[in-house]
Amino acid sequence: MSFLRRCILLALIVFAGPLLAEPAEQRPVRIGLLAFLDAEAMSRQWKPLLAHLGAALPGQRPVLLQFDHKGLRDAVASGSVDFVITNPGNYVALEMEFGISRIATLDTALAPSPMRAVGSAVIVRADRKDLTKLADLAGRRVAAVGEDAFGGFQVAWREFAQLGLDPYADFAELSFVGLPMRAVTDAVASGRADAGIVRACTIENLPASARAGFRVLSPRAEADFPCQTSTRLYPDWPIATLRSTPPALAKAVARALLAMPATAEGMSWTVPADYQAVHELFRELQTGPYSYLKESTLRAAAVRYWPVVLVLATLLLGWIIYTVRVEHLVHARTAELRQALDERKAIEARMRVHQEQVEHLSRLSILGELSGTLAHEINQPLASISNYAQSLVRRVDSGRLTDAAVREAGSEIAGQAERAAGILARIRGFARKRAAVRERRVLAQLVREAVALFAGMISNRPEIRIDEGAAANCTVEVDPLQIQQVVLNLLKNGLDAMQDLPATERHLLITLERESEGAALRVSIRDFGRGLTPEARERLFEPFFTTKPDGLGLGLSICATIIEAHGGRLSAQAPAEGPGLVFTFALPMHDE
Ligand code: ADP
Repeated sequence: MSFLRRCILLALIVFAGPLLAEPAEQRPVRIGLLAFLDAEAMSRQWKPLLAHLGAALPGQRPVLLQFDHKGLRDAVASGSVDFVITNPGNYVALEMEFGISRIATLDTALAPSPMRAVGSAVIVRADRKDLTKLADLAGRRVAAVGEDAFGGFQVAWREFAQLGLDPYADFAELSFVGLPMRAVTDAVASGRADAGIVRACTIENLPASARAGFRVLSPRAEADFPCQTSTRLYPDWPIATLRSTPPALAKAVARALLAMPATAEGMSWTVPADYQAVHELFRELQTGPYSYLKESTLRAAAVRYWPVVLVLATLLLGWIIYTVRVEHLVHARTAELRQALDERKAIEARMRVHQEQVEHLSRLSILGELSGTLAHEINQPLASISNYAQSLVRRVDSGRLTDAAVREAGSEIAGQAERAAGILARIRGFARKRAAVRERRVLAQLVREAVALFAGMISNRPEIRIDEGAAANCTVEVDPLQIQQVVLNLLKNGLDAMQDLPATERHLLITLERESEGAALRVSIRDFGRGLTPEARERLFEPFFTTKPDGLGLGLSICATIIEAHGGRLSAQAPAEGPGLVFTFALPMHDE
């Protein structure tokens, strides 16, 4: 409002200054004007009109108030003017919004008819041979006066739209440089813009030298129209009353305008023109007072195609629900699987621990069973050591101690002590509790170590023969302790089976050989004992199957598990000839 007040004040000073001396009872007739020139030029242009109205309306004092688009709309909205003089586009907008009503249309000497007075020229520099028609402007830089400018933009916009060009989307740049029109011609002349939109007759009013620098694109043949135009023509500016304007005043002003003689520049007023063409322009562009059409077009489409929209929306909703559900199920399933996997891992870990414990117990049990003979075995070196030590004491007492005797006794004592320590070290290693491992080892070597351990723990040892043959240096990847445990168990079972035989008939025979395909090493351990019936052989590897009064029946089932864990199989057969039983297992070979 303060802007409005400032405008009114400014106008009063510029236009009404000379009239301030008039009698105070004179009623002001406020004419709002859409200003596009500077105040002085405006004053010059409209002075004859004010003078004519002043003379024609006794007791009235016509005042001209200049506004921009927004200011003029506010003035109309608040009823602070009685008449409005504005361009055709703005008139149509105010007519639709506030019901202003034209009472006369400007009639200038330039146009052949007030109905065909306003057009736009789209200009380029005369030397731009590449631009001849409006359609050439796609992708170019275009300067115009302003979005609201009727002749300076909107009129040309309609022609572009009919060519399928959207100035806002299809130009490389659309710049609004404002008034005066010179701003546009300057932009084109300087090359800042490839083309400019100006009101028709703008370049015809330039000095001849400046005019020669421009060319009009797509000039139309408009009969009698003295200027080049790129667009169709529209009616000239109207003067309109507001709803609040007193009818008597409106009538008096209309009569005065129609009676006004042409000014020196050829400007006068005639009966109000038809502004339908301007309505059509805005309707086509769906802008200005018709911008609501854009929204309603959308709404109308929605009303018309609602079944399709509904189906699409339902499909979309269904798809979203389906996707969310699938996602949810996948998440839930993954969580279940992960939990099952974790549980399985935990069970496997527990089983591994139990297996290790059972194996450990089994090794301790073998040691336990052999402990009687073990004590005897360790007793022997101890007895030897004691004998040598006593003989040394006796020699000292009898004075027959020689250096040679001391050396002999000392080295014997040391040798026997080492023997005892060796037995204990092997037992300790065997009885050790530890997690399963995998090592690359020569299988024959492992078997020999197991035999040494076995032999070291028993006194009435049988003859044990090892036939390594072609497998002497072959390697396997195994848990050495577990394989030794298997060999030891089979040797002990064989010895048990031969308990009733005289010492000379007790033999154990170990054979190592490569399997015919060459991918595995086979180990067979044979005894010459009482053997087994076929029915007993069936149940041999069942846990807790035993024929011994103090037996646990676990040894062979553990041995079978160990061999299976190494990718092999343990089996028992009656030998091809002679008494006894043969246990055989094969392990995958790991030679390069
Ligand atoms: P345990 O020795 O505690 O009885 P095993 O699982 O080592 O447990 O042996 C199970 C049974 O298999 C033994 O009780 C025995 O009857 C039979 N057995 C094992 N090895 C032989 C063998 N070399 N000759 C005859 N019978 C055997």
